[in-house]
Amino acid sequence: MSVNTAAYKKILHEVHSRNAELIAVSKTKPVEDILELYQLGQRDFGENYVQELIDKQPQLPTDIKWHFIGHLQSNKVKYIASFIHMIHGVESLKLLREINKQAQKHDRVIKCLLQLHVAKEETKFGMNVEELMELLNGYFGEKDSLHHISIGGLMAMASFTNDHHQISTEFKEVRSIFDKVRTEMSSILPDFNQISMGMSSDYPLALSEGSTLVRVGSSIFGNR
Ligand SMILES: *Cc1c(COP(=O)(O)O)cnc(C)c1O
Repeated sequence: MSVNTAAYKKILHEVHSRNAELIAVSKTKPVEDILELYQLGQRDFGENYVQELIDKQPQLPTDIKWHFIGHLQSNKVKYIASFIHMIHGVESLKLLREINKQAQKHDRVIKCLLQLHVAKEETKFGMNVEELMELLNGYFGEKDSLHHISIGGLMAMASFTNDHHQISTEFKEVRSIFDKVRTEMSSILPDFNQISMGMSSDYPLALSEGSTLVRVGSSIFGNR
């Protein structure tokens, strides 16, 4: 077993002391490892790949809350819509419409987080502020036909760097955009209350900047 129980308990304590929640990122890890963490009480797990997720999900307890944290293609939403708890990383109205359509088939509401791009790398996914506002405006225009999704907040990844100041600056930017949207649009976005940021290398910085959901994989499950 490769689960680092001591690290898990330490991280969980840090996360809870900030009133945040821990998502254990189990991508590439076997169901045995997920079960081991489940038996310690962990219920929120994150996966990046649709095929891997739909292979594992039926083998595991049904009260696990699955978070999709990878890049989701519209044509794959149908495979996870019956059970997925939250989809992080939404960056188009097209995808929101498809999630709504598939969730409706199962009479569910799926929580969606909108992904911001704040990192320096160009390869990372996500929107800038203008694109975010454009997406939100589109959503407001169609809100009455989108009852099967709820916009739960923002998701972001910081630059891949050892420069803590840079990382904190990026997390602060996410937090300030979050605060702005939340204040100005609270009546139309009643469920906008999560900031998903922070991974193994930078979750303490993310917690300091107001993250409510950290996504930690390798520190708990070992390197991939
Ligand atoms: C893999 C992954 C994580 C977890 O990364 P670790 O460095 O293993 O903690 C978090 N978020 C996203 C989007 C990921 O793809």
